[in-house]
Amino acid sequence: MAVLMAPGGSKSMAIAALESGADSVYVGPRGWSRRPQSDELTDQEIFDLIDYGKTYDKDIRLAMNVMPCPEEFKLFLDKVELYVTRGVDGIMLCDPGCIRLVRQNFPDIEIHVSVTAGVFNINDIKFFNELGANIIVIPYRWGVEELRQINQQTDMALEAFMFQATKPGRICPGRCYSSSYFHIDHYRDEEQKNHCIGSASRGGSCHRICRAQWDLEIDHELQPETPTLKGTPELLLWELPQYVELGVSRFKIPGRERSIPLICDIVKFYRRALDHVLQGGKDLRDFEEKWEAIRHRWRTERVRRDDSRVHHATVAI
Ligand code: SF4
Repeated sequence: MAVLMAPGGSKSMAIAALESGADSVYVGPRGWSRRPQSDELTDQEIFDLIDYGKTYDKDIRLAMNVMPCPEEFKLFLDKVELYVTRGVDGIMLCDPGCIRLVRQNFPDIEIHVSVTAGVFNINDIKFFNELGANIIVIPYRWGVEELRQINQQTDMALEAFMFQATKPGRICPGRCYSSSYFHIDHYRDEEQKNHCIGSASRGGSCHRICRAQWDLEIDHELQPETPTLKGTPELLLWELPQYVELGVSRFKIPGRERSIPLICDIVKFYRRALDHVLQGGKDLRDFEEKWEAIRHRWRTERVRRDDSRVHHATVAI
């Protein structure tokens, strides 16, 4: 079964995305999902969404892909229990200890290995599989051969982001802590969760400093093309038939921080494109014009958001 997953940066976005044709949404509880609070949900909003999912037969997943410190482990586990008991369908994690802990305590919940786990090779995936994870978010730029290896050597289901960096950058997703070296604020909520603003991996938003205009010193003899710190991700299209052929079961649209109208249009676009491929269509050229328009809107919103985050970090120091 192929599932189209959409982002839920708010309860309204999540419901709008489901009504636009998504089968599933993923949302982040406040302080636990690498986003600013404006793009995360309260417990009550998550409960409402889970209830909505039960009513309309939709799948609700949680991103809790941060690395809790020792004093936060009990709170982390209590939160997971709260959502699992309420009926959430799956949880995205990145920390190996958390994955093991959640599997030991909640044998039936589906566990996704978030792209922020920074998986490098098939042995990393086997390791997470042995810890109890069921679904691997395919690392950016992995090709057909790597996907075949996952299918042959593990029982992980495959989840593919519908975007990828078109050029390689210098930073591996999930292994970047540079924002927290730049500037970090601490804010404890009423449950004593430290939001660590500036450190995504600790549960705050990242300042996106990879997007700033850095003066990189390049040896052009060794590297003729000027690299960026991080490649710019673009929405995918042409890869869809191959992903379906390779058994990818979850197609994930990014963008919890985007606007609701844009997310709804992207969901409608991928709904049509994915259904076309699932019905045996291999030629996606009829989708190209619409795809280019959506990519343009995607890029424009991203640049605006990243610039404001970088600006926040630079005025804060
Ligand atoms: S600075 Fe860039 S690469 Fe590093 S965590 Fe933030 S968005 Fe990711």
